[in-house]
Amino acid sequence: MRTIPFGKPIIGDSEKAAVLEVLSGTTLVHGPLAKEFEARFAEYTGAPHAVSAASCTAAMHLVYFHLGYGPGDEIIVPAQTHTATAHAVELTGATPVFVDCEPRTGNIDIAAIEAAITPRTRAIAVVHFLGMPVDMPAVLDIARRHGLFVMEDCALAMGTRLDGVHAGLLGDAGCFSFYPVKHMTTAEGGMITVRDGVLAEALQRKKAFGVDRTVNERKIPGIYDVTLLGFNYRMNEIEAAIGIEQLKRMDGFLESRAANDASLRAGLAGIDEIDLLETSHDRFTSSYYCLSVVLKDRWRDRRDDVIRQLNRQGVGTSVYYPRPVPHMSYYRDKYGYSLDTFPNAARISYGSIALPVGPHLQDGDVSYIAEALKSALSLEIK
Ligand SMILES: *Cc1c(COP(=O)(O)O)cnc(C)c1O
Repeated sequence: MRTIPFGKPIIGDSEKAAVLEVLSGTTLVHGPLAKEFEARFAEYTGAPHAVSAASCTAAMHLVYFHLGYGPGDEIIVPAQTHTATAHAVELTGATPVFVDCEPRTGNIDIAAIEAAITPRTRAIAVVHFLGMPVDMPAVLDIARRHGLFVMEDCALAMGTRLDGVHAGLLGDAGCFSFYPVKHMTTAEGGMITVRDGVLAEALQRKKAFGVDRTVNERKIPGIYDVTLLGFNYRMNEIEAAIGIEQLKRMDGFLESRAANDASLRAGLAGIDEIDLLETSHDRFTSSYYCLSVVLKDRWRDRRDDVIRQLNRQGVGTSVYYPRPVPHMSYYRDKYGYSLDTFPNAARISYGSIALPVGPHLQDGDVSYIAEALKSALSLEIK
């Protein structure tokens, strides 16, 4: 039997050497590596500006905080996402207004956005679900007509492109995650891409207490002024060192994901009990975060049994995401959503299984995973 984890960071000798070099030096924070990582990330994605951060959640909160959102403001948020997309809004005191997803991709249902806009709406947040790009020109068209800011949650969108443009460059800000199971890791970490240099500079200040000059800009050590309210949402040098090395391997990671996704899709073709979410086609290039298998009708109620069967055969799985965010207790208790709301997101959350396609897969793993799913489904029929 094989043991195939759902996700596994690929940390090699170059990452280890880079970390040791940081630890052997004197600068753990505020050093050149966070700056270098930002420059390389901007170059890789084509972003005019990149600002490193402690996590994707911190990055999104920082942007909303900077924009001054608070009680009385509303932000449109997809129901089918990680809770961080909504928490980043909640943390400011503003209200997340959830919009269901489209069934084909799990991305926000753009046709339903306009009905959720009120005079209090300030921004639209989208997530490129499992790396499949949202049709950003359509979102931007709505946003521009209503004067709204557009946030792209790019936590799963390293390598995602629409019309050849990298995710995070299409809206007003893009926030990336380097959590261990994402496309590349820094253990914990995040990055913000923006077009506006003034915005980038403000985010750099506010992620570091709002002081008026960085350590290197201080003429006399220890002497600075505080001109703004801010956080400590910085990325440290150890994380940045890992990120620089991971970025060098990014093209290889993405090629491997695309190849694994294609062969797993082929291996699962013809299974009547499942639907697969839509993937890359013409203008849309996915980052292939995982392959989500949506179980049909009667299988939906037995999803957890199928997961157990897969896990018993050594196939690691995950669920993206376990509930639509408005069905999570915190949001239900606060805003009173019932469980029959957001039916498309519910269908994916309660009825899907995320299968691995990451670069950690070994030869033969993909066909093993396909066979394991087939056997789990046939075992369950009995
Ligand atoms: C993982 C994830 C996040 C959170 O990222 P962190 O770096 O852990 O804060 C946010 N949004 C989405 C869509 C995610 O999948």
